[in-house]
Amino acid sequence: MIEYENLGKVNQPFFEEYKKDFADTLEKGWYILGDRVKKFENEFASYIGAKHCIGVASGLDALLLSLKALNPKVDSEIITPSNTYIATILSIVQAGLKPILVEPDIRSYNIDPSRIEEKITNKTKALMIVHLYGRSCDMDPIMELCRKYNLSLIEDCAQSHGAKYKGRISGTFGEFGAFSFYPTKNLGALGDAGAVITNSDEFNSIIRRLRNYGSDIKYYNEIAGYNSRLDEIQAGFLSIKLKKLDEINAHKRKLANIYFHELKNDFIKPIQDDDHFDVYHVFNIRHEQRDKLKEYLLKNEIKTDIHYPIPPHKQKAMSGIITDNNFPISEEIHETTLSLPISYFHTEKDIHKVISVLNRF
Ligand SMILES: *Cc1c(COP(=O)(O)O)cnc(C)c1O
Repeated sequence: MIEYENLGKVNQPFFEEYKKDFADTLEKGWYILGDRVKKFENEFASYIGAKHCIGVASGLDALLLSLKALNPKVDSEIITPSNTYIATILSIVQAGLKPILVEPDIRSYNIDPSRIEEKITNKTKALMIVHLYGRSCDMDPIMELCRKYNLSLIEDCAQSHGAKYKGRISGTFGEFGAFSFYPTKNLGALGDAGAVITNSDEFNSIIRRLRNYGSDIKYYNEIAGYNSRLDEIQAGFLSIKLKKLDEINAHKRKLANIYFHELKNDFIKPIQDDDHFDVYHVFNIRHEQRDKLKEYLLKNEIKTDIHYPIPPHKQKAMSGIITDNNFPISEEIHETTLSLPISYFHTEKDIHKVISVLNRF
């Protein structure tokens, strides 16, 4: 059986270092906001090439605290893609703001910049874009719109650690880059974790307070904050794994290349071009008989996944929140997409096996 994901196998190369680091933290006895969090924040900021990194409890919180830091008026609108993972939209809802969905480009699966302008109103406060599947959005037209309409930009980088657009790394285009270190992400912890990247000193200090009950000095609360802290144990693991992030991405890119070269053209593959350095958090193909294809692969001992089976506007949780129902591109993607094995533990041989089975479909 070729699994879709196996986190034990993904983390196996790090076991010895993790065990030693965990033992150190355990003995030291300082578990929340200590040296390890500070160290990881510095390392990740420098990896991204940004001034500040603030460790938080999850990717969802990284998005939520970024929105809170912007301090938008209560009825503000936030523009976001219609085919994202629900967490992106939930952060907007939890911040008390209104999500306005924009259809993706059917080839890149990222928000279609040419469809954004028609959704901008005088209530629009920010764009919350998502670099889906590990591919950066087309940033030139997006940055142009932000300048033209004076909009803030939050990048959901939960799937794009290390992805680049025209040589520039994702998370550095907007006021905020929001990262998740959920265990399956390209940079994954052994539990929930996240971070906000920003170049602004002011936003840095606001988010540091927001994550810690609104306080800089213990028991002095300046603003009504949250409990959303990255813990020392996860930060230690993340420092260890960060050293291998480029290697993890390179491995996924190598496997993607095999798919690109050997998979027959009956399947719609992702697009590639020189402006984008893609890190393949997900490698998806599309096919009209997706469900049949998934079943066929499973019969041949190959597990796959679907990102995602139900589009946000059709989720029960979004009834009454997303009232617009006209997202045919999103629906088409959700009905036809299939995610193929492309994890750090997969070998080239695994991928060749997947391809030979696929090519016989
Ligand atoms: C994983 C993910 C999130 C949420 O991250 P968590 O750490 O699970 O809260 C947000 N947006 C996208 C696009 C994701 O893939």
